[in-house]
Amino acid sequence: MLDRQTCPPVIVVNPSILRINTAGVPVDWLTWQEAVCLHARELVSWTYGEEVMEVRGGHSRLNGERTLLTLNSIMACKGKVFNKIRKEPPLTNRALFRRDQNVCLYCGKLFKECDLSRDHVLAVSRGGQDRWTNVVTACKRCNARKGNYRLDECTMELLALPYRPNHAEYLALTHSGRILGDQMSLLRRQFSSNSRLLEDGPLILSRKPSVY
Ligand SMILES: [Zn+2]
Repeated sequence: MLDRQTCPPVIVVNPSILRINTAGVPVDWLTWQEAVCLHARELVSWTYGEEVMEVRGGHSRLNGERTLLTLNSIMACKGKVFNKIRKEPPLTNRALFRRDQNVCLYCGKLFKECDLSRDHVLAVSRGGQDRWTNVVTACKRCNARKGNYRLDECTMELLALPYRPNHAEYLALTHSGRILGDQMSLLRRQFSSNSRLLEDGPLILSRKPSVY
């Protein structure tokens, strides 16, 4: 039982623990409290990665000593997790902008998130779908300039093609804080080969214009 009177010794502040299944497939991010619950329910098969937190439990009736649970950055758990691993990750502007590294895929300039928008390469009014493979990050100026035109109807070109991130990449795109090195290396090994997160340098003007 978690002792709420005692703050757990912190190694990483508010760590996110990467839950994987027993086949090594990333499933979701856990808070340290969720990780403790999984330990208590004996659903943890193994853990690895760096130690991120120590949590003190209750006193043993046998010897009076307190139990100590060390949480690692990666945790393999038994049990099925439904609806977590989806073929089509939810499309949000934040994840989209991160996929494209906050670069407008028309002019190639880097922008703050508040100055970016979601552009439908084939406009919704012309039958385009609101899906990962039809949307790119665009600055508001380029988005307004493109309007409802198709690319072959205007002089604008895409710097890179839109793609759907797989689940491992989606977990990296939607993480709000710093991803620890061992977590990132596990995720990267499972990114799709077209992932922009695998590129070393910035996306800016690094690609030849593509025909959509
Ligand atoms: Zn632009």
